[in-house]
Amino acid sequence: MSPTKSDLSNLPDLDAMREKYRRERDKRLRQDGSTQFRELMSEGSHNDIDPNVEPGFTREPTNAETEVVIVGGGFGGLLMSVRLREAGIEDFRIVEAGGDFGGTWYWNRYPGVQCDVESYVYMPLLEELGTIPTEKYAHGPEIFAHAQAIGRHYDLYERALFQTQVSALDWDESEERWTVATNRGDQIRARFVCMANGPYSKPKLPGIPGLGDFEGHTFHTSRWDYEYTGGDTTGGLTRLRDKRVGVIGTGATAIQAVPHLGRDAGHVYVFQRTPSTVDVRDNAPTDPDFAKTLEPGWQKRRMDNFNALMDGRAQEEDLVGDRWTELTNGMHAVIAEHPNPAELTEDEIGLIAERVDLRKMERVRGRIDEVIEDPATAEAMKPWYRYLCKRPCFHDEYLPTFNRPNVTLVDTQGKGVERVTARGVVAGGQEYELDCLIFATGFDVSQNYTRRAGYEVTGRGGQKLSDKWADRTSTFQSFFTRGFPNCFFMMGFQSGLTPNIPHSIDEQSQHLAYVIREVRSRGARSVEPAQHAEDAWGAEIDKGNGFLQIQASCTPGYFNDEGKLGESQGWLAGFYPEGTEALFAHFRDWRADGKLEGLELS
Ligand code: NDP
Repeated sequence: MSPTKSDLSNLPDLDAMREKYRRERDKRLRQDGSTQFRELMSEGSHNDIDPNVEPGFTREPTNAETEVVIVGGGFGGLLMSVRLREAGIEDFRIVEAGGDFGGTWYWNRYPGVQCDVESYVYMPLLEELGTIPTEKYAHGPEIFAHAQAIGRHYDLYERALFQTQVSALDWDESEERWTVATNRGDQIRARFVCMANGPYSKPKLPGIPGLGDFEGHTFHTSRWDYEYTGGDTTGGLTRLRDKRVGVIGTGATAIQAVPHLGRDAGHVYVFQRTPSTVDVRDNAPTDPDFAKTLEPGWQKRRMDNFNALMDGRAQEEDLVGDRWTELTNGMHAVIAEHPNPAELTEDEIGLIAERVDLRKMERVRGRIDEVIEDPATAEAMKPWYRYLCKRPCFHDEYLPTFNRPNVTLVDTQGKGVERVTARGVVAGGQEYELDCLIFATGFDVSQNYTRRAGYEVTGRGGQKLSDKWADRTSTFQSFFTRGFPNCFFMMGFQSGLTPNIPHSIDEQSQHLAYVIREVRSRGARSVEPAQHAEDAWGAEIDKGNGFLQIQASCTPGYFNDEGKLGESQGWLAGFYPEGTEALFAHFRDWRADGKLEGLELS
């Protein structure tokens, strides 16, 4: 069936399917929510070392004075830097925990690492750098190299302090400057601070008993140990040939790494709690003629087109045309066939969306039956929830990997692994002996900001950010929070939601660079939001967002804060109700207005 066809016949009964989804969700519900997880350093089980740098790096501390400190050197820090330079602000420093730029693409070097969003819209500044990705869905090393290229192109290396973690941010009221302390003894003084520390920067482990007891080798996927496995991001994990390897987790990371483990390891046990949707990847090398077809401004047009479709808005043309945009196209194809689309109520449109979703999920489940030879394994790998309940995955080798004799799916029926022992892992009451245990268990996105960032922010009058946001995260426009002058949060909360995160980051960077430029040019020393503006933004966010409404009935996972959505203090503390396209337009209009409405300058 063509993905955009309006045919919704031959679908299972919707009520029966809702009931099935509810039963499957209930299997996975648990009381502890996101507190079920532990940090990497906890329980003495894992050291949070950086396997990508030589150990023993030291340098003299710095007491630099600068205009702006950017925390983080991933695409957030890079784009913020680029937009600052464009706004004429040259005096800034970037503090980055890793040994280079790249952020998530610096840390995540597991075998098979690849972008799930089309690289022509995902990789920022392609036109500025005069480059075209080599594949529709580029692999990790190419994206990491692109981040480095941005750093070189815009002379950012000389402004970066690598292998350096911020340990505290303190507002000096008399000087109206921030003091940025780091784990290298630095005390950097800055007028403004931009937090670009990313939603996926804190790896997490399941909080199961025995984490520190395992006597074999173990690591988290974002700290992949090629010394132990052999090979590199392209595979060739030859040192695993005689090893029994366990992988906990079946999210987007595991989907990409497991095919390589299956190919190279002696035996692989994949411990599954909830199956992912694994749709067709259909990657292709970039057509050498592609670049010749592109007119200036092409990347922004393509990004906007993708973004609008991800917001659920019909477009005349689908420039990306992949499995992400399929749902919106499918929904609008059905609406277009209605005798009078303008008369459809919100409920009727919701029902169409649900049935298009069901059609997609049936195809995803049907693919599992087609590919997986063992019927019990196939059944266990079927996802029973609405498509966007969990981060969708795309791969053409993951499912066939489970037909290999050296690969075993250990389905835990929504319960997860029970404990780790000296010899391996216990699941379903059975111990699996392992030589190597890999945690593909993701990142903390839901704990409060200061915990995820790893440092406290102390604002005006000694107020702690962790206290201010203890019960509720509160911002104006997602960036600013009263009592913390000249302190800006990126990719945080109460913002937009799109799978194309660099697009969001870029819109945010342009906005913040404008604000910083205006504050300076108006002769002000500090800026913070008015209380009424912060309250109004919170009220706007509280109107709710379609994504979060669906999440309330979803299988637990990090998209719904492990089933405790209302309590979330992190990334899930609400989204802009109208979607990202409307949010970006709101920012543009606000800037065009030029009044800095809602901000107080002093
Ligand atoms: P996720 O949080 O998506 O997945 C973690 C996995 O660990 C889930 O399958 C989870 O199961 C499982 N898990 C957690 N605790 C237990 C337990 N006790 N027993 C068994 N299983 C357990 O992490 P990922 O690293 O896979 O992905 C994180 C995010 O990073 C993605 O969602 C995506 O946004 C991004 N990413 C993007 C990529 C790209 O674009 N190329 C590639 C990889 C990641 P359950 O589902 O039941 O919670």
